[in-house]
Amino acid sequence: MEQRAAPGTAHTSNGTAGDGDVRRRVPRTDLVLRDPRLSAAVRRLGAPVVKAAVRRAQEAARGGGIAPEQVPDTAVALLPGTAGGLRPVLNATGVLLHTNLGRAPLSAAARRAVQEAAGPTDVELDLATGVRARRGRSALAALHERVPSAGAVHVVNNGAAALVLAATVFAAGREIVVSRGEMVEIGDGFRLPDLLVSTGARLREVGTTNRTTAADYAEAIGPDTGFVLKVHPSNFRITGFTRAAEAAELTGLGVPVVVDIGSGLLAPHPALPDEPDADTQLRAGAALVTASGDKLLGGPQCGLLLGGQERVRALARHPLARALRVDKLTLAALEATLTGPPTPTALALTARPAALMTRAGRLASALAADGVDAHAVESAATVGGGGAPGVTLPSAALSLPEPYAAALRTGDVPVVGRLEAGRCLLDLRAVPEEDDDRLAEAVRSARDGAEGRR
Ligand SMILES: *Cc1c(COP(=O)(O)O)cnc(C)c1O
Repeated sequence: MEQRAAPGTAHTSNGTAGDGDVRRRVPRTDLVLRDPRLSAAVRRLGAPVVKAAVRRAQEAARGGGIAPEQVPDTAVALLPGTAGGLRPVLNATGVLLHTNLGRAPLSAAARRAVQEAAGPTDVELDLATGVRARRGRSALAALHERVPSAGAVHVVNNGAAALVLAATVFAAGREIVVSRGEMVEIGDGFRLPDLLVSTGARLREVGTTNRTTAADYAEAIGPDTGFVLKVHPSNFRITGFTRAAEAAELTGLGVPVVVDIGSGLLAPHPALPDEPDADTQLRAGAALVTASGDKLLGGPQCGLLLGGQERVRALARHPLARALRVDKLTLAALEATLTGPPTPTALALTARPAALMTRAGRLASALAADGVDAHAVESAATVGGGGAPGVTLPSAALSLPEPYAAALRTGDVPVVGRLEAGRCLLDLRAVPEEDDDRLAEAVRSARDGAEGRR
């Protein structure tokens, strides 16, 4: 549209001159919202989100950054993809289970199950008889089927909740015997000892930071013992002159042994020989095993409890269990994780380094042809998220100039990489292969911002 500003007062991008005129021409909110794209967005995202986008577009017009007639288009461009504040990102950190990125990504099967469970479901109803049924029975059955050595299973909100429930039911007002080498801080300032004490249990610490023997436990056990707790040091490693008693050495002491394996492996994993698993611990005589659902199991956030029938029943019937119960979306995702195809986490764990390097090479040459300073390099990935500390998984990455890191993180499809030796590395081990095209597109979009800043 023709601009009516007088010579010398053009409303250009600095927006200093002719302001009054521009301000009058900025369309009102109700008029902008008549744009069919925006009224559709109101139905999809809700009015507040759409109005916020319109306001930002109006402000841009008032500031002279855009012409008043560009307000509707700009508002449409500013609309978020979803009504929530969470944005999907590509995890190119090389940390498979990144706590800040929500740990395990759900499989396609689990995502579909969540979608289907979002409406009314038979989560607590037997459709055949019309009678109330056990909540989440099929998810629990799927978990039990994967670990038949457990007498019964229960699921709560997360691994911490599983421990709190066990401590409350079996040790409130009594003692939990635990090694000084296993008093773990799980992250963000939360410490397992504090968590356990919050239930009214007392901690009876035994051994030393580096060495604790079965005899240390035996000496501490008495009439006040609720249980012996073994905690997998899942986010650090003590090496050198060390000793820890295995669950099998402690099951003869006459008190229950609870094992917090943390990462949620249900059976041994060939790639992670030092990582404890539920089946092995139960066979070794553990009375109860607790674990997280969103670490190596590759499922939704939840806490698994596996153990003898009586014990698990006592946990599930305790009043606190009601406060820690999981919702239907979690149950749906967990069941699909357990019964479905290999999870993204499992695939990332077993990806062959050569295949990762082939992908990195393909990406690097395509991007280099588009003027990006991209190379394929060898890299080292980790499990992260409280699993397999010290294990490195040989991997491959796309290496880019450092300024790409910020540009990629703030792009339309945010990509989170890592900085190493002055380069931005996009490690491919945790990026599903089907996302390679999106990754390349994100790098191309970041190119102008990043290459300009070099
Ligand atoms: C991760 C972890 C926890 C906490 O589990 P959340 O699911 O994060 O609550 C507890 N213990 C161990 C050993 C862990 O690795």
